[in-house]
Amino acid sequence: MKFKFWGVRGSIPTPGPSTVKYGGNTTCIEVRTDNNDLIILDAGTGAHALAQDLLQYMPIKAHILITHTHWDHIQGLPFFTPIYIPGNSISIYGGRDMVTGQGIQRALDVQHQYSFFPIPVGHLKADVHYNDVNEGEKFNIADATVTPITLNHPVINFGYRIDCDGQSLFFTGDYEQQYNIYSPEDAEYIGFQEAIDERVDALINTIQGVDALIIDSSFTTEEYNQKKGWGHGSYDAAIELATRANVKQLFLTHHEPTRNDDQLDTIYADLLKRYPNLGFELHIAQERVQVSL
Ligand SMILES: [Zn+2]
Ligand SMILES: [Zn+2]
Repeated sequence: MKFKFWGVRGSIPTPGPSTVKYGGNTTCIEVRTDNNDLIILDAGTGAHALAQDLLQYMPIKAHILITHTHWDHIQGLPFFTPIYIPGNSISIYGGRDMVTGQGIQRALDVQHQYSFFPIPVGHLKADVHYNDVNEGEKFNIADATVTPITLNHPVINFGYRIDCDGQSLFFTGDYEQQYNIYSPEDAEYIGFQEAIDERVDALINTIQGVDALIIDSSFTTEEYNQKKGWGHGSYDAAIELATRANVKQLFLTHHEPTRNDDQLDTIYADLLKRYPNLGFELHIAQERVQVSL
C-alpha cells in the first residue's frame, strides 16, 4: 500500500507564500493498494488537485471514505471532476448524521443546493453510490478491509483503519481525546472516566501496530489548554497515543490554519528534541508527499 497527501491543513485552506512547503489545502489523502485500487480519505480542497491528477486515468473507480462532514473534509467534492464524467464509479462512505438521522448522501447533496453551488446533484454523471458506515462494522473495498471507529469530535466522526497487502494505516479525521468534564469530587467523575478509558482502549486496540497513523494534531499543548472542547488534538497527545498503540510511523496533520512553514519546522525540531527515543518514525504531513508502506 502507499498513500499521498493532497491536503493537510485544518479548518480552512491557507494558500500563500508562507505555506508553500507543507501546503494550504484541507484534508485529502489518496491511498493506493498494490493492485492500484483507489481509496480516498476525505475530500477537502485537496480533492481538487487530486481530481486533476486522476483525469489522465479515466474512467476511474474511486472509494471515498468521509470521516465527517465539516467543510474542510467535504468541500472539494463538488470540484472532484471525475464525479461529473460518465463511466466513472464513485462510492462514498460516511456516518449517519445524529441530528437528522439521515445518511451521508444528505449532507453532500446540501453542498450542491442552489444557494451554495451552481451545479445540482442531477449533473453528477458518474455512477455514484452512497454507503452508510456503522461503528465497528468492517467492510471490504477490493482487497482492503476497512474498520471504522467513532472518535470524539463535535459531529459524528469516523476514524478508519485500512488493512491491505499485509500492511495497515489508520486515519483519525478530526479527533480530540475526550476529557472528564467532572471534578474528582463529583459523584459522576469515576463513571465518566471509566467510559473515557473504555473508548481510548477501543481506539488503541483498533490502531494497534499499524504501519502508519495519520492523526489530527492541530495544537501545541499550550494552545490546546486554551482550546479544550474544540474537537482537535495536540502533538503531545498524538505521540502518547502512537506510543501506546505501537505504531511504526506517525504523521501529524490537520495543521492549524495560522501556522506557517517556519513554525511547523520549529515545532518538528522541538518534538524531536523533547522525544529523542521514540519507537516510531515521526513526520509532519506534507502536501504532495507520497509514502510507501
Ligand atoms: Zn477538520
Ligand atoms: Zn471537524
